[in-house]
Amino acid sequence: MIDIRKLRGELEIGMGFKHIIFIIVFFIGCAPKPVGVQMPQPELATQPGIAFFPGSIPDGCVVPFEWIPPYTDHNWRMIVVHHSASDKGGAKIFHEWHQGRGWDELGYHFVIGNGTDTQDGYVEVGSRWLKQKRGAHTKSPDDSFNEYGIGICVVGNFENCKPTLVQMNSLRCLLAFLMARYNMNVDQLYCHREVKGNDTLCPGKNFPMAELQDWAKCSRE
Ligand SMILES: [Zn+2]
Repeated sequence: MIDIRKLRGELEIGMGFKHIIFIIVFFIGCAPKPVGVQMPQPELATQPGIAFFPGSIPDGCVVPFEWIPPYTDHNWRMIVVHHSASDKGGAKIFHEWHQGRGWDELGYHFVIGNGTDTQDGYVEVGSRWLKQKRGAHTKSPDDSFNEYGIGICVVGNFENCKPTLVQMNSLRCLLAFLMARYNMNVDQLYCHREVKGNDTLCPGKNFPMAELQDWAKCSRE
């Protein structure tokens, strides 16, 4: 025999508990991050391997641990893409070249290999990135492109040849990570020659910059 009064009492207790849970959930739900909506929020890009960028993220794009700054992020505002203007190379030799020019260390933050010194498409993380230190890759009158610009060097001379498909996939993957993490749009993605005051062909006439910017534009809309 069911005791209706007892059952009603239990239901009321149960409902009261549910209300409390509902209120807690409601207030948690008021946090800025929308639940169930994939947004390119920087906090999503804090773990390796997490899908963080809606749109045309390349297949197999995984964020390695070393892309994530170990300390507080610098106030990055733009990204500048370069070529090495050499047939081969990698972070180690470019570091030596840059030191030879009197710079403190490798001027770029990232170097994307072409299968010569490092594997095709392999993204080397420069010592500047680990320290979140300003770059030495793109001059400008106020030096803002070195102060706030992330320098990415794609190995190759793209006046003579084209970057490999693997390099471009790695570049898109890296850009996807960086643009989401620093909430950048396509207007903050440059190639070296686009920055005023730089008399350079970098990253070369065969580098598909317009295509890359179209991709970034579509991905960030
Ligand atoms: Zn350059």
